[in-house]
Amino acid sequence: MSSHETVEQRNKRLAYYQDYARKNRERIQQQRQEYRIRNKDKIAAANREQYQKNREARKYIQRVKHTSRKAEMLALHGTEACPCGESRPWCLCFHHRDAKAKEFSISLNTYRPNDDLIEELNKCDVLCHNCHANLHYEEN
Ligand SMILES: [Zn+2]
Repeated sequence: MSSHETVEQRNKRLAYYQDYARKNRERIQQQRQEYRIRNKDKIAAANREQYQKNREARKYIQRVKHTSRKAEMLALHGTEACPCGESRPWCLCFHHRDAKAKEFSISLNTYRPNDDLIEELNKCDVLCHNCHANLHYEEN
């Protein structure tokens, strides 16, 4: 690749590659597969390294996403805290007042559209995990 290459030359070169890829699709796929087999350990090691490298970032993103979705659920429910005062979203849960009316768990279904969740949220009280555990303890 020359830095003196004109736009025209570059486009011509790229068109040549594309044409080559089109004409040799099966052969290229086979070469790729053979490469993957030959370098299985090397690829696995690289994947592992990449996974470790992104681990913290991924955990952070998951946490932020989960927390913000939980906050959305709470806003949808219209409740900010447990009656005991706990208001950290990650400490709160949605308790179904009538277990028989429960169709699904809110926390396992936060990916559902808000319209679907509202109906289920209306069957719930917001409690912190301690108060929730205590409520069920006292039931028995
Ligand atoms: Zn509480």
